[in-house]
Amino acid sequence: MQKLKGKIVFVSGASNGIGRSCAEALAAAGAKLILCARSFNKIEDLSKNLRDLYNTESLAIKLDVSNRGAVDKAIDNLPEEWKKIDILVNNAGCALGLEKLHEGSPEDWDNMIDTNVKGLLYLTRKIVPLMLKYQLNGHVVNVGSTAGIFAYPNGAVYCATKSAVHFISDGLRMDLVDTPIRVTNIQPGMTETNFSNVRFHGDEEKAKNVYAGITPLTPEDIAEIIVYAISAPPHVQICEVTVTPTQQATGGIVYKKK
Ligand code: NDP
Repeated sequence: MQKLKGKIVFVSGASNGIGRSCAEALAAAGAKLILCARSFNKIEDLSKNLRDLYNTESLAIKLDVSNRGAVDKAIDNLPEEWKKIDILVNNAGCALGLEKLHEGSPEDWDNMIDTNVKGLLYLTRKIVPLMLKYQLNGHVVNVGSTAGIFAYPNGAVYCATKSAVHFISDGLRMDLVDTPIRVTNIQPGMTETNFSNVRFHGDEEKAKNVYAGITPLTPEDIAEIIVYAISAPPHVQICEVTVTPTQQATGGIVYKKK
C-alpha cells in the first residue's frame, strides 16, 4: 500500500546521504516530491530516476538554503499546486572541521550556522504558513543529531547548531499546538554518508576512519524512521527519535572493534 499517496513532501539536501535516501523511500511510499540542494545535476538525475522507478511526480530545485532571498524566491515561485506542501523535511546540513574551538575556522562556523540553523529557519518560516493557509495536516521533520544532546570534543559549533535544531523543534511544536501540524526531531548518531568527507574537506582517508571498527547506521535506516514518523495517524505526534548504531552509546562513547 502507498502510505503517502498524493502527499507533497519538500526535502532539503536531497542530493546525497539521508536526504537522498528519504526521497527514494518517500517516492516508494507514493509521495510527490520537491527536492532541493546546491548540486542541481544530482537532484535532477534523482528526480528522473524516481519518475522511472515509481512514476513519482517531482520538482528539482537548485537552492542554497542558507541564502534567505533565494529560499523566499524558490517557495514564492513554486507552481500554485506545488505550494500545498504537506511535509517539510529539513535535512540539509553539514559539519565542517574537527578541531578545538579556539583553533577552529570562523568560515566553517558561519557555514554550519547559516546552513544547519538559519537555512532550517528560512524554509520553516516560508512553508509552515502555506500549511496553515491550505489547512493541511502538515508535518515538519527536522534532522537534528545526537550531537544536539551530547557535545563532543572538537565539535562545539556543530553540536551547538544541532542543539539549536532540538530547541527550535520544541519551540515550534509549542507554537503549533493549536493546529494539526506535527513537529518531529530525528536525532541520528553515526551514519555513513558523505558527511565525514564534507567535514574533512574531501580527505577520504580521514572520513573512512570515522566508521572503522563499527557498523554505522545507513541513510536508509534514517529514511525508514522518517517515513514511519510521517505515516503515523494524524493524532500521533512522534516528537523525537534518537537513534544510534548499537556500538555508539552517546556522541563520543563508541566501541570500536580492533
Ligand atoms: P551528506 O553530506 O551526505 O548530505 C548533506 C546534504 O545536504 C547534501 O544533499 C547537500 O547537498 C545538502 N546541503 C548542504 N548544505 C546545503 C545548503 N547550503 N543548501 C542546500 N543543501 C545543502 O550528509 P548527511 O546525509 O549525513 O547529512 C544530512 C543531515 O543529517 C545533516 O543535517 C546532518 O547534520 C545530519 N546528520 C548526519 C549524521 C551522520 O553521521 N551522517 C548524524 C546526525 C545528523 P549539496 O552539497 O548538493 O547542496
